[in-house]
Amino acid sequence: MTTFSRNFSCLLGVAALAALVATASLFADSSKTTAHAVTKIAEGIYVIRHPDAPDGFPQGNTMVVIGDDDVLVVDSCYLPSAARADIAQIKQWTDKPVRYLVNTHWHYDHQIGNGEYAAAFPGLDIIAHTETRNQIRGYNPGWFARYDELTERIKKTLDTGIRKNGQPLTAEQRPGLEEAYQGRGGVAAEFASQPGRTPNVTFDQSLTLDLGHREVRVLHLGRGNAAGDTVVFVPDARLVATGDLVDSPVPYIGSGFPFDQVVTLEKLLHLDAAIFIPGHGDILRGEPGRAHIALLRDFLKDVTTQVSAIVHRLGNNPADYEKVRAEVEKSVHFDAWRQKFAGDNKADQDFFDGFPRPGVVQAAFAQTWPR
Ligand SMILES: [Zn+2]
Repeated sequence: MTTFSRNFSCLLGVAALAALVATASLFADSSKTTAHAVTKIAEGIYVIRHPDAPDGFPQGNTMVVIGDDDVLVVDSCYLPSAARADIAQIKQWTDKPVRYLVNTHWHYDHQIGNGEYAAAFPGLDIIAHTETRNQIRGYNPGWFARYDELTERIKKTLDTGIRKNGQPLTAEQRPGLEEAYQGRGGVAAEFASQPGRTPNVTFDQSLTLDLGHREVRVLHLGRGNAAGDTVVFVPDARLVATGDLVDSPVPYIGSGFPFDQVVTLEKLLHLDAAIFIPGHGDILRGEPGRAHIALLRDFLKDVTTQVSAIVHRLGNNPADYEKVRAEVEKSVHFDAWRQKFAGDNKADQDFFDGFPRPGVVQAAFAQTWPR
């Protein structure tokens, strides 16, 4: 599948989806995930990586932590069918029921499978930061309600060859859009029968769970990718699931709070962890893993510092985004950052240019409005 996948990403649902048929960058090739992969990280701890959905939407990583008494799962995926497959897999690993499901944030690719877990495990508690619970409760109904409308909009783009912004759909963009369009019927059918479930346990700072000889700390270290970003730390295994505060190799930043994320990532680096499970992509281990997070922190620090300085110079006017973006493009060495994140991988390079490069500037600019 060509990708418009990651571009939809995590933040999707809101601005990016609305822009779907309008923005060329949304169809840039990217480092998509095509295969289902399971990694055993430690005794009783597994990570499941999911292929992108047939509609091109990415699916977040899922982590499973098994204690002597209880099982905890981090993130429930985008497709209900993927969540059901994970549940079947978990039942092969253990006969203990899943007692806790944590949503790292509200984005659809991390939580639409909640209802499948609730149906499979009647004693389940779904845990989320208060802000995450609020956004799931607020956004999910509209997402399902607008799904068919967006399908029609994509069809119109394919039929007319003109995107919403008036630009032509290029030959390079068309195959990915056609494939995603073809996949939307099946996904819509899945959504029509998904039971859905909003988190029923909320926290604001931290929550410590005992799974039986295995402690798990559910922590809000601060905002970054979303208002309720949550990480799940397993001290005995020295690992932490980061949600989309960290992705690998290229960050999914198209919204969020980049000024805050600099600080939140610094706190993440202070946890006594050697393994980092990103929201998307490969598991990050040891010093290279820490270096990747530090790189992301430094990238965000660079862009936010420049955005701040430019807004100070030009004045604070929400209508000036394009002017600010043009200035940031001159003062931030994006090509060098792209090389650091994407190396020589063309798909990752294109994804960097198409998604986080404008995304972090836009998100940082939005954060300067209210200050
Ligand atoms: Zn995500």
